[in-house]
Amino acid sequence: MLGKVTPVNPEQLLVGLNDAQREAVTTAAAPLRVLAGAGSGKTRVLTHRVAYRAATGDLDPRRVLALTFTRKAASQLSSRLRNLGLRDAVATGTFHAVAYAQLRRRWADTGITPPTLLDRKVGFVARLLPPRSSRSGSSASRGPDPATLAFAVTSEIEWAKARQVTPARYLDAIEAAGRKPLVDPELAARVYERYEREKQAQRLVDFDDLLHLCRRHIDDDPQFAEAQRWQFRHLFVDEFQDANPLQHALLRAWLGDRNDLCVVGDPNQAIYGWNGADSRYLDDFDRYFPGGATVRLVQNYRSSPQILAAANAVLPRSSQLIANRPDGPPPSIRVLPTDSAEAAAIAQAVRDHHPPGARWSSQAILVRTNAQLAPIAEALRASGIPFRVRGAGGLLDQPEIKAVLRELRRSAAPLQTALADLDLAVGERSDLAHNADAAANIAALIRLGHDYACLDPSPTVTGFLAWLADTVRADQPDEQGDAVELATFHAAKGLEWPVVHLAGLEMGFVPISHATTAAELAEERRLFYVAITRAERELLCTWAESRMFGSRTTPRERSPYLDDIELAIANTAESADIDQRRSRRPVARNQHRREPVGATPAATSEERPLFEALRSWRAEAARAASVPPYVILHDRTLAEIARARPGDRVSLLDVPGIGPAKANRFGEAILRIVAAHAPERA
Ligand code: ATP
Ligand code: MG
Repeated sequence: MLGKVTPVNPEQLLVGLNDAQREAVTTAAAPLRVLAGAGSGKTRVLTHRVAYRAATGDLDPRRVLALTFTRKAASQLSSRLRNLGLRDAVATGTFHAVAYAQLRRRWADTGITPPTLLDRKVGFVARLLPPRSSRSGSSASRGPDPATLAFAVTSEIEWAKARQVTPARYLDAIEAAGRKPLVDPELAARVYERYEREKQAQRLVDFDDLLHLCRRHIDDDPQFAEAQRWQFRHLFVDEFQDANPLQHALLRAWLGDRNDLCVVGDPNQAIYGWNGADSRYLDDFDRYFPGGATVRLVQNYRSSPQILAAANAVLPRSSQLIANRPDGPPPSIRVLPTDSAEAAAIAQAVRDHHPPGARWSSQAILVRTNAQLAPIAEALRASGIPFRVRGAGGLLDQPEIKAVLRELRRSAAPLQTALADLDLAVGERSDLAHNADAAANIAALIRLGHDYACLDPSPTVTGFLAWLADTVRADQPDEQGDAVELATFHAAKGLEWPVVHLAGLEMGFVPISHATTAAELAEERRLFYVAITRAERELLCTWAESRMFGSRTTPRERSPYLDDIELAIANTAESADIDQRRSRRPVARNQHRREPVGATPAATSEERPLFEALRSWRAEAARAASVPPYVILHDRTLAEIARARPGDRVSLLDVPGIGPAKANRFGEAILRIVAAHAPERA
């Protein structure tokens, strides 16, 4: 019954897992939610659970559907499953890819000519915009340019469709959600309405229509529903915090009245709210999937304690993760005069972190917006460092892939056979022995073929080629040559690298300038947390004091979030000192320090009551935020406050160890405690 699975001893799959992970892998509870912070092994648990249940005979891997949200994450899931011996048996994919495969099958079975997939949405929307002059009268020339406008309207349409909001309900829906569109909402509503109408008239479907259609047919066509539910009986979803209402509805439809569902996610990494995602499906799992069980993981296996401290300082309410990795260097922050100087400095830093024999792919450069990638790519090119930008120069544009596709197209064999032939032929091609990139590309294509074969019960070459052209065109799988990866924070989710460079950490990018509401700013903070937690060993942060936008040079300010990282650096450096001091080894380096650090620093009896009051406030605040006390404020800073007794914000800012971030966050509480402990006058 286990199909193409290498038999594995189930116990072997549990080796090295901690107790909570083991529980998450083996529990019979369903539906199951695994809730845990970044790098705690959620994806690992998901894949091991599939493999474990397969190995114990509890499921047939060919009946598993493992869902995620990006093509890249899907290809990572499938390679992790392969490494566990499941080879190509398990269907993995994005919601879109799976829905599309199912619809294609239905269209073929029922003889319906498939509609055309609209994948250049912004261009289509641009043609539907009213002429400039009719938009805002004489001030039209100061309005946004058509491309920006089309982009913003497209965002609104995508948000609305993800939330299952029709054009007629759009205006009410944004008000109810507190959403502040970047375009005139009335205009967005009008264009959205025309968009739907035009699309239908031309028999086009967009990506969201695929989800909607698939769900609708499951609801109204029992035979189709039964076929899908027969094919996929065990559902798994990674990164579940990013599900939107449309995806959730489709997931419910796939599941039917069954409960074999396992979701894993982290509410602190919810970064697609702007796009319509809703982390409540994860947060309130019990409500949406009654009777569900939850397993929580708390150990972090990815990042050094220094990187975790920075992450926890940026998002103090994140689940408190226990570090398992050895100490590493503290994160660094560098400021450069211009964006091009920043790009050059990063290229140099990438080289400095690339000892002979190391892999370039152990480093990534992450930025907030796509536009920031270009100058960095240019600097890397100039220094001869191989790099890869997600989304650019797609797999399907590579010459060797084009050649292989031409051959495939001519093949009359069933897809599986055609893929097997291709695999054999590749092994015999001497030209590929010296072209690792081309070989890796072809291997990636074959893998995609197997992915598709898992999704379609009677896969054909034609079906695969059509699916490939429509779903993979702009996306690249990651199996390519050794190269530094360039990506946006969003695209980096779920991934990890030993060395991570975060560039352009400036106001306007981090947080992004259009984030104004509390909810939007909270999402920006989570996004930064996601970026930091990609790093295993080293985190290098940079920002530039000026940046070119077109032909203009604009002065920049550093990201306010850097204050938190800086503080974490200072605190971890200090606690490292304390640890060293407490250890028995003689520490000559520390013998001439300014003051003893291990002992309670507040000295005079007059200062002591205030100092103790501050400490108990800090303990409370640390508990509430689930962070170690020193992340709130260090003992030495509390002692300084007790000594200086600041009466207002300005004098509080004079206290060493208190920066604007700390003053904003804790100033009010501190000043209240100081006022309550006014010294008694004789
Ligand atoms: P994210 O929230 O970023 O998606 P995650 O919770 O999915 O992270 P994983 O990617 O599964 O975390 O795991 C992070 C890293 O820790 C991976 O390299 C994984 O192999 C490793 N890891 C997880 N659990 C263990 C373990 N018990 N022993 C050793 N390594 C582990
Ligand atoms: Mg993960």
